[in-house]
Amino acid sequence: MGKIIAIANQKGGVGKTTTAVNLSACLAHMGKKTLLVDIDPQGNATSGIGVEKHDIEQCAYDLLVDEVDVRQVIRPTNIDRLHIIPATIQLAGAEIELVPIVSREVRLQKALSPIKDAYDFIIIDCPPSLGLLTINALTSADTVLIPVQCEYYALEGLSQLLNTIRLVQKHLNSNLRIEGVLLTMFDARTNLGIQVIQEVKKYFREKVYETIIPRNVRLSEAPSHGKPIILYDAKSRGAEVYADFAKEVIANG
Ligand code: ADP
Ligand code: MG
Repeated sequence: MGKIIAIANQKGGVGKTTTAVNLSACLAHMGKKTLLVDIDPQGNATSGIGVEKHDIEQCAYDLLVDEVDVRQVIRPTNIDRLHIIPATIQLAGAEIELVPIVSREVRLQKALSPIKDAYDFIIIDCPPSLGLLTINALTSADTVLIPVQCEYYALEGLSQLLNTIRLVQKHLNSNLRIEGVLLTMFDARTNLGIQVIQEVKKYFREKVYETIIPRNVRLSEAPSHGKPIILYDAKSRGAEVYADFAKEVIANG
């Protein structure tokens, strides 16, 4: 059975997209049939995986607003076993256009249900907000993966996210669980990073992944080449840690 993981945190710049792209690519590389779903109107996961904007005929907007069949929106990527539902800036309108629609929170769930079992993993990259797009992701997901940046205000805003998760569990998706908390952009040269790790572990305990993603220049360069790190620089530290992380996610079942 396919597992749907939503990568969410309403804070921007915490590593959601970097994690969505590189986790998806590593899972596919390890033999898992994987679908990356980009529901951020910025479309950073789409371009980061190498899909050109002018190449996109239908995107997540068509899926959510016009209920176009998911099979028409899914497209292959340069990586074996990795498919994508791309996003374009058109999706920015969906947040508002969905408002008056009946069952607006379950559009993505409905759209994905016919293909869910055709994949081992479906990874959803959420926008930096707790609006309808993120609610759709949480409603369709089995689990939510929360990237937390190793910085001073790391825990700020997480209570809002956890509250939203609880509301979704209560009203829309009682099966939703927390997949785990991933610490990102760790800088070993500062004491702050270590303090943040301790703080986040105190709060989330065994939910925190053993793998910690360090700051790595190669990881920040890869998106501008339209490549996940395993294709851009397979020998980099960034590639190693995302492979370790993918193994942890697979082991979680
Ligand atoms: P989000 O999707 O949460 O907004 P991104 O994944 O886009 O966050 O990351 C924000 C920025 O930080 C991007 O420019 C990205 O390339 C960079 N970045 C993310 N993770 C790392 C890392 N481990 N090391 C260095 N740069 C990173
Ligand atoms: Mg992003």
